[in-house]
Amino acid sequence: MRVGVLAVQGAFIEHEKILESLGVECLELRNGKDACQDVEGLILPGGESTTQGKLLRELDMFEPLREKIAAGLPVMATCAGLILLAEKLSNDPARYFATLPVTVKRNAYGRQLGSFYTEEQFGDLGKVPMTFIRAPYIESVGEGVEILAKVNGDIVGVRYRNQIGLSFHPELNEDRRIHQLFLDSISGGKSFPCTQKAV
Ligand code: GLN
Repeated sequence: MRVGVLAVQGAFIEHEKILESLGVECLELRNGKDACQDVEGLILPGGESTTQGKLLRELDMFEPLREKIAAGLPVMATCAGLILLAEKLSNDPARYFATLPVTVKRNAYGRQLGSFYTEEQFGDLGKVPMTFIRAPYIESVGEGVEILAKVNGDIVGVRYRNQIGLSFHPELNEDRRIHQLFLDSISGGKSFPCTQKAV
């Protein structure tokens, strides 16, 4: 199985290490040509969403990736990645892929003191470790969005069709169950071709 990992900025290597330990081949996506490669899943890592959004456009990756996600490519997005997927941001006029019908608040726990660790229930996996770094949370969800996890009443994990969105960083802990859950959602054999010409 081959999974594309957006590798323009942020915590992408940590995702690759976990995926590789689970027997997955990772393809780092750094430009428009990479974005058009055939992959069976996609990781949008944490980092800084404004920078990632800007680089996605400058590197001609935005449209091919948006198109693939909209066509059903399985995607797991963590932290800044969740911001990229969100249909709406409550405290920022920016909008990126906008394929996930949720409203997300950026830096929802405060900018400086917003980093913490906890363990909470995640779907039917039981309690999982959760590391938050200047994290967003999900203020509201649209129809069809399944809530997978909450911390202190705030939504921090959701699934909608092919998309999993997380406020926290599962790649920063040893626990690999969330990555495995994502891999289990990949049916395989399906391809998501680029309709645009690779640049
Ligand atoms: N605060 C960052 C943003 O708004 C996200 C933080 C993260 O990915 N750890 O882009």
